[in-house]
Amino acid sequence: MAIDLANIRFSYPDRPDYPVLNIPSWGVGTAEQVFVCGPSGGGKSTLLGLLSGLLQPLDGELTVLNQRLDLMGSRQRDRFRAAHIGYVFQQFNLMPYLSALDNVLLAAHFSSATSKGALKDEIKALFCTLNIDETLWHTAASQLSVGQQQRVAIARALINKPQLLIADEPTSSLDQANRDAFMALLMSMVADNQMTLIFVSHDLSLASYFSQVEKLSEFNQLEGAG
Ligand code: ADP
Ligand code: MG
Repeated sequence: MAIDLANIRFSYPDRPDYPVLNIPSWGVGTAEQVFVCGPSGGGKSTLLGLLSGLLQPLDGELTVLNQRLDLMGSRQRDRFRAAHIGYVFQQFNLMPYLSALDNVLLAAHFSSATSKGALKDEIKALFCTLNIDETLWHTAASQLSVGQQQRVAIARALINKPQLLIADEPTSSLDQANRDAFMALLMSMVADNQMTLIFVSHDLSLASYFSQVEKLSEFNQLEGAG
C-alpha cells in the first residue's frame, strides 16, 4: 500500500469543535492513480496536508509509503516530504522572479546528480520531456503563460523522482485546451515513472483520466463525529 489511513480525525486548532476529517479507513495501492472529488470546503486540501505531513492528525494511524507520519515530529515529516513526495499546487507557487530553470533547481535536493552541471542537464532533459521550449528556460516564472507555469510546476514536482505525487486542483486556472494538455502530460509522466498519484478536484469532468474515482464524502464520515 502507498497510503493507509485508520481512524484518522482532524480539526483545525482554531475550530476544535468543527471536525474536518473523520476517516475510519482508507487506502491507496502502490502505483495507483486516484481521483478524489468533493465540493469546495469539503476537506480535500486538508486531506492532502495530512498525506504530505504538513498537518498532523489528532488521532489515528497515518501510514504513507510504509512510514508512520503520525509518529514523526515536524522536522522528520519535512524531510520525508522533501525526499518522497512531489506536490503540484492549485496556484503554481513558483518563485516569480526566478527563471524556470532556477525554480526547479531550488527544489532539487534529492537528485542523484553529482554536480550542479549534471543537475542542470537533468532538469533540461525533464523540460524537454514536458515540452518546455529552450527559449523559456531562463525566463522569469512571472513572464510565463499559465500553461507554461503549470508545466514548470510539474517539472519541479518530479525532479526528486518522488514515489508519491500529490495534486491539489492543479487545473483550476487553466482553460480547456491547456487543461487537456496538462492532464495528458501529467498522466503520462505518472505512468512512465510508476508513481502513485492522488489528485483532488471539485471538477468531475476530470474523472475520466483516472482508474480509481472516489468521493471524499464516502470515506470521510462526518455525521456523528465531533
Ligand atoms: P477543500 O480543499 O475541499 O476546499 P479544505 O480542506 O481547504 O477544503 O477546507 C476544509 C474546511 O476546513 C473548510 O471549512 C475550511 O474553511 C477549513 N479550513 C481550511 N484551512 C483552514 C485553516 N488553516 N484554519 C482553519 N480552518 C481551515
Ligand atoms: Mg482545496
